[in-house]
Amino acid sequence: MTTNTKIASLRISAPEAPESFDTQALQQLDSAHFLHPFTDHAALRERGARVIVRGDGIYLWDSEGKKIIDGMAGLWCVNAGYGRASIADAVHAQMLQLPFYNSFFNTTNVPAVKLAALLAGLAPQNGPNAFQHVFFTGSGSEANDTIVRMVRRYWQLAGQPERQVIISRRNAYHGSTLAGASLGGMPGMHAQGGLPIPGIDHIGQPNYAEGGRGMSEAQFGLLAAGWLEAKILELGPENVAAFIGEPVQGAGGVIIPPSTYWPEVQRICDKYDILLVSDEVICGFGRLGTWFGCELMGFTPDLIAFAKGVTSGYVPLGGVLVGGRVAHQLIEKGGDFNHGFTYSGHPSACAAALENIRILQAERLVERVALETGPHLKARFASLVAHPLVGHAETCGLAAGLNLVRRKGATVHDCEPFDSAHAVGMLCRKHMFDNGVIMRAVGDRMIVAPPLSITTTQIDEMVERIQYCLDLTLEEVVGKGWMA
Ligand SMILES: *Cc1c(COP(=O)(O)O)cnc(C)c1O
Repeated sequence: MTTNTKIASLRISAPEAPESFDTQALQQLDSAHFLHPFTDHAALRERGARVIVRGDGIYLWDSEGKKIIDGMAGLWCVNAGYGRASIADAVHAQMLQLPFYNSFFNTTNVPAVKLAALLAGLAPQNGPNAFQHVFFTGSGSEANDTIVRMVRRYWQLAGQPERQVIISRRNAYHGSTLAGASLGGMPGMHAQGGLPIPGIDHIGQPNYAEGGRGMSEAQFGLLAAGWLEAKILELGPENVAAFIGEPVQGAGGVIIPPSTYWPEVQRICDKYDILLVSDEVICGFGRLGTWFGCELMGFTPDLIAFAKGVTSGYVPLGGVLVGGRVAHQLIEKGGDFNHGFTYSGHPSACAAALENIRILQAERLVERVALETGPHLKARFASLVAHPLVGHAETCGLAAGLNLVRRKGATVHDCEPFDSAHAVGMLCRKHMFDNGVIMRAVGDRMIVAPPLSITTTQIDEMVERIQYCLDLTLEEVVGKGWMA
């Protein structure tokens, strides 16, 4: 068979079987031709990829007809849930009207203008540093690359060009481009690409379970923020351009900082006149029950990176919200800013964002996370701590994590972890996937971030399945003799 006939035969459409797929053939073509992100391809070839064919609300279906609760909202992005015909309609209409035009050469387009104005209105209140401008990109990584360019350009224009260094945190995730991965603090990513690029430095993360033994959360928050001041003094404040962080670290494992952390970081940035950047690619657009995570965490950044939830992932789009301090220099003094992407302000992507945001507003999904679904998830996750495998559980809005442990302890610091070589988190993730619920494993921390459209009944359904899969994992781990 030629590849073309192979492809043509993959989908068998008949009235009695409207959706029928040749899973094996798809898996073979997949492993023959498709290099996946962050994937061990030899292992994938053995197992075969799961083929996802449809989504509706919080549910996905695979090519075998199996229904799965998507506890990860795709990849932290499908905030409005699957199956939103109105987003498809908006994109369809825009594609017929004008699928694409660039915004490089003194041109603009209607959806990009509307979205920029809408975002300026939605952005956090920021006094004289208000977010009145948006730079559009195609992804979160490109948003953070843009921030690196913009921050350095800002300091050139402000007459302090030696301010070049951007400080980030270990175990942060800021994307996978050269600058994004460098800002991120993932050793595995740095090791494979000669990263970080020059001018990026890292401090410890505000992870109470990891570093807060013997002190209160509030004390630990101040301590962790103090690492920023120590780093600034080590580098010399005159060399430091900015600090970047996620309000709640997502890919790092839903690491929720103590409430004392971000206000102290803000105080330190202000003291040394350093730009503060909030990477809201996950926290933005309602994940924590506020439109932007910095509002919940109590700080007011100079720049905000966004992506994922802005379109609920229906079409790729990202960008940077630019506060007055930086915007003023760029616009009034900067002349050409020699940076941009073909797809900056892509009209079809902006049309998807406009309709997505309309849905979030009309269904009050952000308020529901704050008042209804977030508190419900918190209560249900708290109840999971009764399970013999669960050491502790934390939630913030509709992001949650729980730790699988070998022996429970009275505090998070007294729990005894499993041998990391046993990869208990991956075992557990497999039980979840096989039993129709997607959770992500970050080491032995299991995390969820479901669509914001999830109902309290659906949260119950998700947590019941999680509970069942924890039982299966426990059975397996006990069988292997790994429990204390
Ligand atoms: C996903 C993510 C990014 C990268 O976004 P991409 O669209 O994958 O490039 C950046 N920052 C954070 C916090 C993210 O979660």
